Amino acid sequence: MTPEEFRRLGKQVVDWIADYYAGIEEHPVRSAVRPGEVREKLPARPPEHGEPFEAVLRDLDQVLLPGVTHWQHPGFFAYFPANASGPAVLGDLLSSGLGVQGMLWATSPACTELETLVVDWLVELLGLPERFRTDSTGGGVVQDSASSAALVALLAALQRASDGQVAESGITRRYTVYVSEHTHSSLQRAARMAGVGAANVRVVEDDPRTLAMDPAHLAELIAEDVAAGAVPTMVCATIGTTSTTAVDPVPEIGRVCRQHRVWLHVDAAYAGVAAVCPEFRWINDGVADHADSYCTNPHKWLLTNFDCSVLWMADRAPLINALSILPEYLRNPATLSGAVIDYRDWQVPLGRRFRSLKLWSVLRWYGASGLREHIRTTVGLAQEFAALVRDDPEFELLEPHPFSLVCFRPRFPGLPVEEANRRTLQLLETLNDSGELYLSHTKVDGRVLLRLAVGSPQTERRHVLAAWERIRREAIAAGQ
Ligand SMILES: *Cc1c(COP(=O)(O)O)cnc(C)c1O
Repeated sequence: MTPEEFRRLGKQVVDWIADYYAGIEEHPVRSAVRPGEVREKLPARPPEHGEPFEAVLRDLDQVLLPGVTHWQHPGFFAYFPANASGPAVLGDLLSSGLGVQGMLWATSPACTELETLVVDWLVELLGLPERFRTDSTGGGVVQDSASSAALVALLAALQRASDGQVAESGITRRYTVYVSEHTHSSLQRAARMAGVGAANVRVVEDDPRTLAMDPAHLAELIAEDVAAGAVPTMVCATIGTTSTTAVDPVPEIGRVCRQHRVWLHVDAAYAGVAAVCPEFRWINDGVADHADSYCTNPHKWLLTNFDCSVLWMADRAPLINALSILPEYLRNPATLSGAVIDYRDWQVPLGRRFRSLKLWSVLRWYGASGLREHIRTTVGLAQEFAALVRDDPEFELLEPHPFSLVCFRPRFPGLPVEEANRRTLQLLETLNDSGELYLSHTKVDGRVLLRLAVGSPQTERRHVLAAWERIRREAIAAGQ
């Protein structure tokens, strides 16, 4: 493809995306294809001869689009948002165009230095501790996902708890990790991947009222494990659990960690970015005093399209000691001088994309005030929805709901739990089949709840009100 061909086709692609955003409401939110349907419509064998790019765009429209679930649709309320934005898409396109592989500072200095700058900017924007800044003892890094961030944090925690023994000789003792029932499943997986083992992931009880981790039970479990000869290694506290956005009491959990010298990882994948607003700074309580690592995903709720997850460390040394190996083919004067950061030492893969470019584009386009407005608008819409649910005697609402997620269900009076759960899930399918909106669900104390998360910058008040009308109408039908 010559630069001139690229120019012509590139403009078509940008037009395609602009038209897609402008007409997104015409698509059903959730794809209705059956398994295998997309693949069946495409040739089984790769082409022998090159085809014009227009043919790709035609198949995109005719074959792929029906198989796409529209995450940027204003009626997308499922899971957590993965919101995109114009500046993020453009920043990502530039990153693709440059095609940089930034494993070392030396393989593209700007890739490393811009990343260092934007993660330090975010420390300031989110009111995170100074220790997380790269010019202090710590530092941040852009990862592909919060799941990778959890694994990397655990490897650093094992490095510290074992004094380097794990990296050297493998797991030779019982290292334990502490989560709650509502901690994200990526922590369980991190424990498996790191060789800690699922059996050494201890599940701390929740306070049944708030669904947040009970620090007293955490202290009990740690004391028990120490007495049994285990090495308590890491506790994961969550700010905004995936299930219900519960907030674990970080100050109390942190005090327990400090007492036993256990690594505290704070997972704020979804909710952390809310701290861009002063009224949400409370979510960082205890982080400055206690967190050894902290993660939040701009790719969820901060207008930066997937993938972009930021992990910060209060002290970067254990991480680098755990992961740094310098083979001959990567040796270079900048690395040997010690004056630069090589982010390959801060992550699982060697290679890395120029992800900071899209985050930088977002931060510059919106500015802090634009980001605050996005958070406030989506929180406001979710709170308005919650008020409608609360005021309707046919529905119950899970409290509290401080962010942009609301959990609720129809009451189904007189029905046994199992039957009410079945009808709630059936209602969910009916709603999602409508193409007008897309919700997801969770289970709390054995009871199924619907989850409605507002996050798309396309979502307006009218979409939330229409969603509520549809939910009410279908719920009444389901109750009969
Ligand atoms: C979404 C979520 C994750 C996983 O995020 P990925 O970036 O997709 O790995 C982890 N923790 C919490 C609390 C989440 O909400």
